[in-house]
Amino acid sequence: MSYLEIDPPSRVLMGPGPSIVPPRVYRALMMPTVGHMDPTYFKTMDAVQGMLREVFITKNELTLLISGTGMSGMETALANLLECGEELIVCNGGVFSGRMPEIGRRCGATVREVKIPWGRAAQIEEIEKALKEKPAKVVALVHGETSTGVMQGNLAVIAKLCHAHGALLLVDTVASLGGTDFQTDAWDIDVVYSGSQKCLGVPPGVAPITFGKRAEEAIAKRKSKVQSWYFDMTLVRDYWNEKRVYHHTGPVNMTNAMHEGLRLIVEEGLSARVARHAKMARAFHAGAEAMGMKLFVQNPAERCPTLTTVLVPDGADDVLTRKTLLEQHNLEIGGGLGDLKGKAWRVGLMGEGARPNNVLLFLSAIAGILKKQGCKIDSGAGIDAAGAVINS
Ligand SMILES: *Cc1c(COP(=O)(O)O)cnc(C)c1O
Repeated sequence: MSYLEIDPPSRVLMGPGPSIVPPRVYRALMMPTVGHMDPTYFKTMDAVQGMLREVFITKNELTLLISGTGMSGMETALANLLECGEELIVCNGGVFSGRMPEIGRRCGATVREVKIPWGRAAQIEEIEKALKEKPAKVVALVHGETSTGVMQGNLAVIAKLCHAHGALLLVDTVASLGGTDFQTDAWDIDVVYSGSQKCLGVPPGVAPITFGKRAEEAIAKRKSKVQSWYFDMTLVRDYWNEKRVYHHTGPVNMTNAMHEGLRLIVEEGLSARVARHAKMARAFHAGAEAMGMKLFVQNPAERCPTLTTVLVPDGADDVLTRKTLLEQHNLEIGGGLGDLKGKAWRVGLMGEGARPNNVLLFLSAIAGILKKQGCKIDSGAGIDAAGAVINS
């Protein structure tokens, strides 16, 4: 029996993740596999922790990589903070924040939801109302909600509010860290996690996470053990600190890839990188609107720069359009999730994807496809508008 060799194409990845992987990260992936207790690997782990602190903008000691994708970060954050019978408040406004109540319940927590209409950010008054109704141990929310394209602002104010009510604030930055302004310490956020394959520009497989002082204290004060053995920070921590106690085999090659991805971010400079993502989003939004397409998130201030939800225009075929983008242009975007299935496209401008050539390629490719389907699209106006921002 023989099997065909696999030969994946190099796609232009402009969906909700994974994003385009830079050549230097691929090279790091090819480096030799060393043992997970090799002294050279410990040095790599230390360097990764140092760079993660730069990207999270934190001094938090407990900052490391979870061996798993973004969801493992969500699971780790919730499982370590919550015990049976404790209260969790989730700001639920999309598919990803919609997963938090379920995970919270599996940790034994009592969950209350602040329901946010899709396409909107959470209002501070609503979170305050929930906290006043009944105290909670944890308030959880998503910074960049990839299913709707909304970015939650006012995090420093929300953190202050949570702390005033004795709650910890847990934030998902899977789709935003490394592509938008996020300041763990300055905003006083207690637990933050992300994922490797979105704005950090590394293949999927590891999830950065950081715990602040209050969160560490909460873990130390637990009466019961963390419900998940694999994601128990009291165990995983001792592999990443100077104790170097074996817990599970560190994903050595993925850690190397993350090391190089983070090095690229530090070299570019976090603020320059955030500015690049913001500018590419502005160019894309201007181009799409000038072309005659509509964005799902009405309030420009609530749009997430790294992921835009574009409404499928009247008369356009959702599946055919995405299929043609992939087959003719080698370009991947995401379809709508949940309530937006068939109604919106999710276009990511993350990491290497957030470059002028990708913005212009997407706009010109989709304009051609939509025109062929009889949609009223002004491709020239779109390219001009995007170009004006790019060249500004
Ligand atoms: C992608 C994503 C996740 C899930 O990450 P996986 O890597 O697919 O496990 C969680 N939250 C947000 C906001 C995401 O965009």
